[in-house]
Order: sequence, then C-alpha cells, then structure tokens
Amino acid sequence: MPELPEVEVTRLGIAPHLLGCKITAVKVIDGRLRWPVPRNLPKILQGQQVHSIERRGKYLLVELDLGYLLLHLGMTGTLRVLPSSEPLKLHDRVTFEFGKLSLRLHDPRKFGAVLWHPKTKGPIEKNSLLLKLGAEPFSPDFAGELGANILYQHSRGRSIAVKQFLLAGQAVVGVGNIYCSESLFEAGIHPAKAAGKLTRPQCTRLANAVRLILKKAIAAGGSSLKDFVNSDGDPGHFMVQTKVYDRKDQPCKICKIPIKQIVQGQRSTYFCPQCQKR
Ligand SMILES: [Zn+2]
Repeated sequence: MPELPEVEVTRLGIAPHLLGCKITAVKVIDGRLRWPVPRNLPKILQGQQVHSIERRGKYLLVELDLGYLLLHLGMTGTLRVLPSSEPLKLHDRVTFEFGKLSLRLHDPRKFGAVLWHPKTKGPIEKNSLLLKLGAEPFSPDFAGELGANILYQHSRGRSIAVKQFLLAGQAVVGVGNIYCSESLFEAGIHPAKAAGKLTRPQCTRLANAVRLILKKAIAAGGSSLKDFVNSDGDPGHFMVQTKVYDRKDQPCKICKIPIKQIVQGQRSTYFCPQCQKR
C-alpha cells in the first residue's frame, strides 16, 4: 500500500511537470473507485490551471482555479506523467490531459479516489476527509517539542498499545506499519506498551524518531523520481534497509539479541526485546 513517503515522492515526481499547466480534457475510464468519480468532473476541470500540488496525509491536493482535486492512491494506485500519445493500459482509471502530457491514475484494486472540492465550499482543510487527520509530521505544528506535546496529549488515558496508537494516525499521520516498527525501535519503546503510559521523554524520542524514519524513507524514494515520468516505473517501498521490520530472529543491529515478531491488530510488529523497554 502506498504510504506517506510514497505519496510525497509521487507529489515531488509529478508536480514539476504539471505546475502552471491547463487541463485540456479528463477521461474517466472507470469511475467506480473507493467513491464514485463525480460524473460532471471532466466538464468542471476542463480549462482550469494547476496552481499547486500539496499533500495532506496520503491525499494529494491539486489546487486549480476554482477548487481542489483530491487524489488518493488507495491500496495499489500509482500516478504517472506520460506523453498523451502513450496508449492506455489495463487498470488505468482516470486520465487528465494537459495538451501533450497526461497524468494517469492506474489503480488495479480501485480503492483510490478522485474527488472535487470547490473553493465555494470553504478551505480545503475543512474537507471532511481531511478534518480528522492527525498532525502532519513535517508541519510546523509537529516540529520539535510541539510534536512531543501532540503525542503526549493524544495518548493520555489510552490503554491501546503504542504501536496501534501510532498506526491509527489520529495523533500524527503517515506512520504506516513498517514505519511504526522502525520508529519505535529508534525511540527504544516497546510496541506493546500502553500509549497512556508513555513518559514525556519517550514522547520526545518518538516524535523525533517518526520524523527521522519518514525523512529517510522519502530520501530513499528520491532516487525513483524519474519513474513518475515513464509507464513502467514501480518505486515500491522506500525503506531500503530496515533495522527491525521483517528481520525476525536476525540479530539486533545494536545489541545482537534476535529480533522478535508479534501480531498486533492482525499486523506484524518487529522489535528488539532488549533495546525496547515497556
Ligand atoms: Zn537490541
């Protein structure tokens, strides 16, 4: 599943090609995505210019003259900029034409989203899909001790395991399953510890770890930027070298004790029983 780093690298990959460009046509090949693509979308978008492409959580927000195009990659989606002469492929769902270039949403499992938020409906931050998202890990709101404050405040009174607390994305977005294991290892926190028992210093270490791990993943994806302008690119996962994830029974990179695997909420968690304390 594309996680925050993949979506951020998608944004970095497509934005330079589309900023300032005008949509000349939109073709909906199959609009039965997570939510139906609005029927009148091609008519609405035609002639509008791209002013910015931002990201909130795993949503890409394409600012046009009259509103925002909200794009989500779902479970298996990818976005590519291609020459418009390139033939459509199986599982291409929507193609946005920009004269000689096309932006294509390829989505085999159809959990992606293509939605429209007109400026008349108010600021994009107020869109119901974005309103309840946790803090953005690289925003000023989550910088330094503010990030630790957010984790501390949100976790008070919660008996849920810290791994699942992070994964839920209500305090901070973007910490998917792999990044949860890696961040908790980096912070030296046991994944099954009750979120409400996190100490203040642990919240500081965890906020730092989340930023570090996501930053590394985005940097690792940077080498795949060119893949967003050809038809075959598959950037896959960016966490090239994990310290605990998928390393069951292999020696911890710090203390050499074998890494353990547990299942939390039907997802695998990996941790070092010695380096990560409850
Ligand atoms: Zn260890």
